[in-house]
Amino acid sequence: MVGPGAGDVARETWVFDVDGCVVDSLTGTSLRPGARELLETLRARDVAVVWWSAGGAEHARRRAEHLRVAELVDGYAAKLGRDADGAYVLDRVVDDARSAVFVDDHPEDLPAWLDVIAVSTYLSDNPHDRGLAEAGRRGRSAKASPPTSARTL
Ligand SMILES: [Mg+2]
Repeated sequence: MVGPGAGDVARETWVFDVDGCVVDSLTGTSLRPGARELLETLRARDVAVVWWSAGGAEHARRRAEHLRVAELVDGYAAKLGRDADGAYVLDRVVDDARSAVFVDDHPEDLPAWLDVIAVSTYLSDNPHDRGLAEAGRRGRSAKASPPTSARTL
């Protein structure tokens, strides 16, 4: 996976599930309405973006490339094993999962302590879908920012 570089201190990171979340689960060929705008918003805010899929990191990369948003994604990761509670393990997904935001249509598959924006499942190409609206609102508002005094402006 590629995440925030070693030199990045507390860079905000968003981790997106792929199929059924930002890409339709039926054909995998349509980007969910609002997804590109959200990714552009996060990029403008210097938020790191990871696409994370049970189909594997390469599957996630192919989806992003096919849908022409790969330039807005910083890294790809695989949903690997599950823990004793049935939740996906977070190894090698993000440096600090506790400070990351996850977007997923199956939040029940994620550890309960994560910051998850649950979305409805995006089943098939639907230009009227608004499932990413809440994520879009979150994306536009800065999360916990570093102390002002520590920032170099
Ligand atoms: Mg999904």
